[in-house]
Amino acid sequence: MEPLRDSWGREIRSVRVSVTDKCNFRCRYCMPAEGLEWLERDELLSFEEIERLVRVLASMGVDEVRLTGGEPLVRRDLPVLVRMLAGTPGVRDLSLTTNGVLLDRFAGPLVEAGLRRLNVSLDSLSHVRFAEITRRDALDRVLAGLEAAERHPELRPIKVNCVAIRGFTEEEVPALAELARRKPYVVRFIEFMPLDADQAWKGDDVLTGGEIRALIEERWPLEELPAKPSSTARRFRFADGAGEIGFVNPVSEPFCSTCDRIRLTADGQLRTCLFSRREWDLKSPLRDGSSDERLEELIRFAVAHKELKHKINDPGFVRASRSMSQIGG
Ligand code: SAM
Ligand code: SF4
Repeated sequence: MEPLRDSWGREIRSVRVSVTDKCNFRCRYCMPAEGLEWLERDELLSFEEIERLVRVLASMGVDEVRLTGGEPLVRRDLPVLVRMLAGTPGVRDLSLTTNGVLLDRFAGPLVEAGLRRLNVSLDSLSHVRFAEITRRDALDRVLAGLEAAERHPELRPIKVNCVAIRGFTEEEVPALAELARRKPYVVRFIEFMPLDADQAWKGDDVLTGGEIRALIEERWPLEELPAKPSSTARRFRFADGAGEIGFVNPVSEPFCSTCDRIRLTADGQLRTCLFSRREWDLKSPLRDGSSDERLEELIRFAVAHKELKHKINDPGFVRASRSMSQIGG
């Protein structure tokens, strides 16, 4: 079948599927402390609907699927969906992004269902500062979740994602770099983007990957590793061979020109960019008896309108229509 290509010539190979807008954390860079309205139960795509869309996408060459949210592990029976997607023809790479707080319970069932790759978000190894950023006192449970994941050698690589915020993260860098050195985790620093529900983001809050790299190199020299052209991360290993560190720099080094991703929200809206102002409704056609051919046509039309690039650094930047937990990061 014709590959899925946008009008700038980029081939779409990857989809982020949000399974819920709910979350058991309230990270400051993502959600408000309280007061976000949840989607109604019947607005959420069912597992069968998600599987059908993933099958249609996979038939067009979208072979990488990442489950996300909100917090994906609060969606009931998530391993059932993992099993369905792991068995979907054309899905080559199935992964999950989680805050890790329920992982000690779910690591085994997820691996058993066919999950092979995992990203865990973790911004601080200090109890006080972890609670400050997530507004939850749950560091020990996240660390227990990581330990549980580590006990499954099928689940590799384990990536630990840290949102880097100026005035907060500098102090966390040594401990997080040491985590990458002593554990089989690839620690990755992600630049803070204007997707926080509180709309407090300012350009000055972005602690760049380059700045963090310099902080790490004061103590441990790094060597760059080759990365896939579509990769969002620049990869480095410690020169003494002790582990790997990554930097995802969407603000200081945008990678839009090689972006191969689209996103599906929990309520069945296709988004062609994190910063899209427009969404493409796939829930209605899924529910009105439309054929797979019709779904394919709608997806191709949406992708033809994929944005050339985000405009975070432009003077007239306008925020996306929803915040990160509602989109699916
Ligand atoms: N709840 C899960 C988690 O935290 O891993 C999955 C969803 S979360 C929205 C996905 C990723 O987006 C996390 O790694 C989180 O740190 C990141 N994220 C959230 N808000 C962000 C922001 N404003 N800028 C950059 N990354 C952000
Ligand atoms: Fe929840 Fe993940 Fe957003 Fe934190 S980043 S509030 S864990 S969805």
